[in-house]
Amino acid sequence: MSFFVVEIALPVPLHRTFDYLPVQNDTQEHYLPGQRVRAEFGRQLLTGIVVGCKNHTEVPQNKLRALLERCDDAPLINEHSLTLCRWLADYYHHSLGEVLEHMLPVMLRRGCSLSEANERIWRRIANVDTNPKLRGEKQIALWKKFQHSECWAHADMTAAGFALAQLKRLAELGLIVEEEALPLPNIPAVDPVFHTLNAEQQAALHAIEPYLGRFKACLLEGVTGSGKTEVYLRLINQVLSKGQQALVLVPEIGLTPQTVQRFQERFNVPVALLHSSLNDRERLQGWRQVSEGKARILIGTRSAVFTPMPELGLIILDEEHDGSFKQQDGLRYSARDFALVRAHQSQVPIVLGSATPSLETLHNALTGRYLHLKLSQRAGKAKPPQMKLHSILHQPLTAGFAQPVLAAMQKHLENNKQVLVFINRRGFAPLLACRDCGWMAECRRCDARLTLHQYPPHLHCHHCDFQQGIPAHCPQCQSHKVEAVGQGTERIEEQLAQLFPQRPIRRVDRDTVRNKQAFDELFNEIHTGGSCILVGTQMLAKGHHFPDVTLVVILDSDAGLFSADFRGMEHSAQLIEQVSGRAGRADSPGQVWIQTLYADHPQLNLLIDSGYHALALSMLQERQLQQLPPYTHMALLRSECEDRIQTQQLLQQARAFIQDWQRQHAHDNAPVTLLGPFPAIMERRAGRFRYQLQLFCPGRVPLHQTLEALVQYLQQLKGFGKVRWNLDVDPLDT
Ligand code: ADP
Ligand code: ZN
Ligand code: ZN
Repeated sequence: MSFFVVEIALPVPLHRTFDYLPVQNDTQEHYLPGQRVRAEFGRQLLTGIVVGCKNHTEVPQNKLRALLERCDDAPLINEHSLTLCRWLADYYHHSLGEVLEHMLPVMLRRGCSLSEANERIWRRIANVDTNPKLRGEKQIALWKKFQHSECWAHADMTAAGFALAQLKRLAELGLIVEEEALPLPNIPAVDPVFHTLNAEQQAALHAIEPYLGRFKACLLEGVTGSGKTEVYLRLINQVLSKGQQALVLVPEIGLTPQTVQRFQERFNVPVALLHSSLNDRERLQGWRQVSEGKARILIGTRSAVFTPMPELGLIILDEEHDGSFKQQDGLRYSARDFALVRAHQSQVPIVLGSATPSLETLHNALTGRYLHLKLSQRAGKAKPPQMKLHSILHQPLTAGFAQPVLAAMQKHLENNKQVLVFINRRGFAPLLACRDCGWMAECRRCDARLTLHQYPPHLHCHHCDFQQGIPAHCPQCQSHKVEAVGQGTERIEEQLAQLFPQRPIRRVDRDTVRNKQAFDELFNEIHTGGSCILVGTQMLAKGHHFPDVTLVVILDSDAGLFSADFRGMEHSAQLIEQVSGRAGRADSPGQVWIQTLYADHPQLNLLIDSGYHALALSMLQERQLQQLPPYTHMALLRSECEDRIQTQQLLQQARAFIQDWQRQHAHDNAPVTLLGPFPAIMERRAGRFRYQLQLFCPGRVPLHQTLEALVQYLQQLKGFGKVRWNLDVDPLDT
């Protein structure tokens, strides 16, 4: 047998692969790219992925170790996915092993075998009245359970204290059988509403249809409520009838029962869901249903983009501008950009939908790289909401509301409608301060004020999670005049309850909606609840359809107008437009009141008078003038550490290295421009100082060559053991 080593990728930050000897008696044929293996790495036991086999290695004979185990006979990650992972690793300058981990659900990452991971259930097959001969209390108790309910999950039974032997005994007696459970939420189609498409929807559909079967990126820019989903559904219908699968990606909080129901009702096929509130086993199940082709539609949030789909025919990415598509730690990938690459590789069309497309996507559409389709009117009878800026300069406010705004709320409530009050700040008040000396409650670990909460009463840092009690008097001057300053959702809720005592008030923020179930329940209540006031954060803004909301009041958009981040205005405008889009989505017309101190703010006025698209065009011009993305490419090197000097120094070294490197590899036509190092907008967070170095370059290739060299340099840099750094390609937040 000729000598060979197996080259594997391991989930470690090092940007390289590792050579191991095969498991004893294995031949080269046993190893296929994409297979999982178990290997010792230092003192850790890791699951790696086979990349290939080689007949030589640089590793000295005495250092070579053998793999401990081959986990699968067939590769779990196919050639396609491996290629995609290589792209991700190159593009984001991340270790291949860590990228590959994203392709597998947690249970498989841990090395668990596919069969072991199967959810097993036990099903009663004997008549309930059967009176079998059972030995012992446990067996009798177990049979009772099955008399009571036909199916039990194996895991639930063992958790309830029953042993496998007892279950097997019942099976021997012909009472129950063991089955592999793949419960697919398969809700039968219940008379779906088929709208006749309007002309714009029809045109969009006709424009995209010819691309089914090959790659094309399409932007479906449709105002809120214009019937984008209806277009998706038609496209999916065609894909399904060709025997293909569809991938639908939605923002973190856009995955509501309403959305899912719409897809399930329309098609009589199994739909799989993948989102963050599933447990590991549920994730694995969804992954299998999709990758084995059993589920025909996958609806999921960011990470669902990694799920293998053998018969992929179409990708839909709804609310493409949404920040949750970008992962903010570890592998800082954009699910949108990755979905585009994936669509290209699979030669399928991808539809990016939004009422407020990101400037990147809009730029691609305007320059003709993407097919650009517009839905300019609301579908059906709904009219666009009427928007109004209300100046509160020198105006008396009651509980933060101007008098005319309160009057408008009163009117809509009297008409038995719902009013949505948007304030993107949870808690009671953003500040607790002393009236006598000006002391403010600040976080000891961050450059931030503590937020005052009343339910339950405490001070809370929203950046590092630090919590403490509310002081009875000022720690600085002992005064008792320590007061809440400003407003959060809790305070607005409390004050509105006094102003509108007869109306129910529902608060929607991360404190009232802690999990998916609470979220679903609350939304059901809102849908059936009649006239009420909704007070909430951006949780209320995204894609929800509240037919009874006719008035939206936006309380605190001003902060976003003057953000230090160059994307600040873009994000504020998207949020305002999305929140406003909740108004008047059914038959009754909607109104939006924006309270502001800056009623003559030019961009805000452009948004109100001419809409998001017009503002986006003007923002694009500005970006072009300033040579900011999308007119240049950007990357960010971040560093953080408890020591401010070290945090800065690492970036200074990085800067010096890049300048040196550039001199040696002169890219005269496309130099990388550097900005910084300078402190992050919040310089200290959770006790660590945070700095950044910004890199800009008009060409992708020279930028990425520089980044690769930079990462190599930083990985061998000595003397900065305590400083954490990360590279963010196409960063969203600066
Ligand atoms: P979007 O996804 O653009 O926000 P939706 O697809 O949710 O819009 O559509 C908004 C509302 O209009 C929904 O209640 C939907 O059922 C309805 N609708 C969509 N298309 C039509 C149509 N062609 N005719 C009548 N109503 C429609
Ligand atoms: Zn004081
Ligand atoms: Zn803090």
